[in-house]
Amino acid sequence: MSRVYNFSAGPAVLPESVLKEAANEMLDYRGTGMSVMEMSHRSKAYQTIIDEAEADLRKVMGIPDNYKVLFLQGGASQQFAMIPMNLMKNKVADYIITGQWAKKAWQEAKLYGQANAVASSADKTFSYIPDCSDLPISADADYVYICENNTIYGTKFHTLPNTKGKDLVSDVSSCFLSEPVDVTKYGMLYGGVQKNIGPAGVVIAVIREDLIREDVLPGTPTMLRYKTHADNGSMYNTPPAYGIYICGKVFKWLLSMGGLEVMKARNEKKAAVLYDFLDTSELFHGTVVKKDRSLMNVPFVTGDTELDAKFVREATEAGFVNLKGHRTVGGMRASIYNAMPMEGVQKLVQFMEKFEAENR
Ligand SMILES: *Cc1c(COP(=O)(O)O)cnc(C)c1O
Repeated sequence: MSRVYNFSAGPAVLPESVLKEAANEMLDYRGTGMSVMEMSHRSKAYQTIIDEAEADLRKVMGIPDNYKVLFLQGGASQQFAMIPMNLMKNKVADYIITGQWAKKAWQEAKLYGQANAVASSADKTFSYIPDCSDLPISADADYVYICENNTIYGTKFHTLPNTKGKDLVSDVSSCFLSEPVDVTKYGMLYGGVQKNIGPAGVVIAVIREDLIREDVLPGTPTMLRYKTHADNGSMYNTPPAYGIYICGKVFKWLLSMGGLEVMKARNEKKAAVLYDFLDTSELFHGTVVKKDRSLMNVPFVTGDTELDAKFVREATEAGFVNLKGHRTVGGMRASIYNAMPMEGVQKLVQFMEKFEAENR
């Protein structure tokens, strides 16, 4: 068996210890004589799995009691519709457009009400986060929406926007559990877990209780109401059972690592190795304004598309895989989520140094 260094933006690298544990439990989960994949979600064993997953996530993030944790399906993209359907009481919301995912969410919200783009960084290919300290927030906005870490462009809100008292809704898919967060600053945060937590198929939403309402937009399907899932402990219907089980293991891994303060310090150190190299390299360049750089997704280019392609090819042969940039941006992107070891980043930088020397 040989494992590569996987820099995929998602689905992405998971902690090896978690994968090994899952492998050990594959045929017989703790004496039940079956895999978690084969288990009724109404069984006692499974109830314990989902209860522990929620309790551990609450511990890891410090989620206050007045917030619900929901395990949902449909990907982060499903939330682009669920959010306006459930939260647009006045049918008005303000969106900050910092990349493709925010733009998609904004466009979807327009199907349900008045969705205003109150700021955007489209003018410079989303290479920065706009100043959000004094935006023209709508007086009757039901919420202000951001994509907190822009997976494709490699930017991150290091300061949350001033929402002028409106509830903040944040897509945290690609920075979920990468550093501590103050949940009370959000009305809702959510993310697909396939970036930094677990296998594709699970979306976790953390929502303040008063935002989970009966009076959603008319025609909202039962399955797309937060209340349906909140009232049924995320088990109104069959949940993505195996995915939640793996997420639960990752929460335990995070706790054993020392929690999110420790992860943040690790992630900062890891990202610095790559960014410091990009800042001194004569061949490779980062594409993002320094102060807005993401700790998780690091895009870079040589400025020559053929050389970019050569780099991706040779890197793949050397065991550094999935470094090709998003199809809309080109170049390269290294996603260095929680489970990417420091060693992987150091070795990638060594490889880049060698490539630079050979291709000067
Ligand atoms: C990947 C991603 C999405 C889309 O996720 P799906 O689960 O494929 O719908 C949305 N937002 C962000 C920030 C992402 O990184």
